[in-house]
Amino acid sequence: MTLHDPKDPAAAGWLDEIFPSFQGEGIHAGRRQLFLRLAGCGLGCRFCDTPRALRRGAACSVRAPGAAAESLLNPLLPERAARVIADLASRSGPCHALAVTGGEPLEQEAFLAALLPLLCLPVLLETAGTLPEALARVIGQVRVVSMDLKLPSVAGIAPCFELHRRFLEIARTREVYVKVVVNAQVDAAEWRAAARLVAEVAPAIPFIVQPETDRRGRCRVDFERLFALAAEASAAGLADVRVLPQVHKMLGAP
Ligand code: SF4
Repeated sequence: MTLHDPKDPAAAGWLDEIFPSFQGEGIHAGRRQLFLRLAGCGLGCRFCDTPRALRRGAACSVRAPGAAAESLLNPLLPERAARVIADLASRSGPCHALAVTGGEPLEQEAFLAALLPLLCLPVLLETAGTLPEALARVIGQVRVVSMDLKLPSVAGIAPCFELHRRFLEIARTREVYVKVVVNAQVDAAEWRAAARLVAEVAPAIPFIVQPETDRRGRCRVDFERLFALAAEASAAGLADVRVLPQVHKMLGAP
């Protein structure tokens, strides 16, 4: 069944890479997953660790276990992308989910709306949590939402709190957790506002304090500050506050 007009260029996707790895962040860290990284993101966070995926490139890299990487020309129609993912899934062994990541995947919601119903794996959507209308369009096909909440003092971008609030109102209809990247520059008032926001909308969901790390996985914030931030988040009414670094960097995983 074709779910979109095949002549509609908006339904074709600009991809960066497709590969198997371990999930490195949040409550599913350590699980084997396939990753579909979409290209393009307009936010420009200071700590972004996927700079190549910020722009739409000419090709998408596909890496299967034990094989050389292949290149596919962008953009790809949803049916083609679904076939590539199904083939990679069959060569990768059992996987917990397809992590749809970026860049910001929701910048290509027309592609996702056509692709997600065709997939062979449950979808874990990794997103900056700033595009609520796009999320509403695809939420019916998403199993898990991994939502970032951006602090201007850490990310170096304009405040997005109202967008985050509207986004979380929609995301909480699925399994969802919120990740907040922190470093030594975290602003105390912003931190309180972020914790209050999540506590008001969805107080029982996991709230992940994710220390910014360098390429070797060393934290850019000390233990005392992390301990105090976690305590303050709990005091704001959050029931499940956890401090978790990115584990894929420690594992040497992509
Ligand atoms: S939202 Fe994600 S992909 Fe976009 S700039 Fe920030 S960290 Fe990078």
